[in-house]
Amino acid sequence: MVRINQRKPFRPRCKYCRTNRYVIPIVYGLRLEEEWLQKEEAGQIRLGGVARSVDAPNWHCSKCGNEFLR
Ligand SMILES: [Zn+2]
Repeated sequence: MVRINQRKPFRPRCKYCRTNRYVIPIVYGLRLEEEWLQKEEAGQIRLGGVARSVDAPNWHCSKCGNEFLR
C-alpha cells in the first residue's frame, strides 16, 4: 500500500547498523546550488553527481558508509 500524504520523509534502515538514524538520501541530478551544498555539509543529504545510473544507490549511511538502493 502506498501512502501518498506521508509527511515524514521515509528512510530505510541500514542493514548493518539496524537503524535509519544515520541514513541520508543521495541526491542526483542537481545543479550545485548553495542550498544543497549546505545541506550536504550539515549531513542531511549526500550529493551523488549529475548523472544517475539505473542501479545507483540512493541511500547512504553516514555511520558505516554503506550505500544501498531501496
Ligand atoms: Zn550503517
